[in-house]
Amino acid sequence: MKKNNHFELILFDIDGVLEYQGKVYPGAIELTENIREHGINLRFLTNSTLKSAKSAAFKLQSKGFNAYEQEVITASKATALYLKELNPRSIWLLLSREGVDEFSEFIHDSENPEYVVIGDCRDDFNFSNMNKVLQKVVEGAKLIGMISGLVDSSLGSLELNVGSWVGMIERAADVKATYIGKPNRFVFDLILKQFPTIDRKKVLMVGDSVASDIIGARNAGIRSILVRQGEFSEKHLSKKVKPDYIIDQISDLSNILFNC
Ligand SMILES: [Mg+2]
Repeated sequence: MKKNNHFELILFDIDGVLEYQGKVYPGAIELTENIREHGINLRFLTNSTLKSAKSAAFKLQSKGFNAYEQEVITASKATALYLKELNPRSIWLLLSREGVDEFSEFIHDSENPEYVVIGDCRDDFNFSNMNKVLQKVVEGAKLIGMISGLVDSSLGSLELNVGSWVGMIERAADVKATYIGKPNRFVFDLILKQFPTIDRKKVLMVGDSVASDIIGARNAGIRSILVRQGEFSEKHLSKKVKPDYIIDQISDLSNILFNC
């Protein structure tokens, strides 16, 4: 193994990297096992807000991956950890499914929230709720978006994503939201804090999204590898943003990690 390919921590995006639309990519399970056998640390870093760390780990396990809850950071989990540091008086959480479980320790108050916290709340992105969010933010509640992505196709068809709704409130209320998930540095720092002795040059982000994974890695000062899978499109590549490596499929990562 060449010195410059010697990584000590590998961060895997999940959707589009290990699996996509219900199917595990060939070689993905074997790759993660191989990484463990080589004593390299790994974490699963997803921008999913609907899943909790627990439910995301369970989903990976059900598909055959060895994945532990402590190794998974979802955008909802990261947002809950961010809020915990702020110790808010109250929050109004707009979020669906298991991601909600990450926020059980907070005081929830949609009438007098200190923070309005927005993840994917599916059909609850309606006029009544968004109008109420606008009013609370104008009255002084601080706005947090779990992720900044505008659109998403990981569930099979193109959908509006959290950043579109939060961006609408930012414009209407003339405020700036705080965003937590990739590509924001906070979520990377959260993981890297667990590995204080590892040099950032020895940390690799593996992703299919230039906007969240590759730009996020650059923001965090770590290396990145782009996989031409999942949501990747050639038009996402630009001269300004260059991953350290590009591979066609996730199984090719072994060549970079172990055979060079
Ligand atoms: Mg992805």
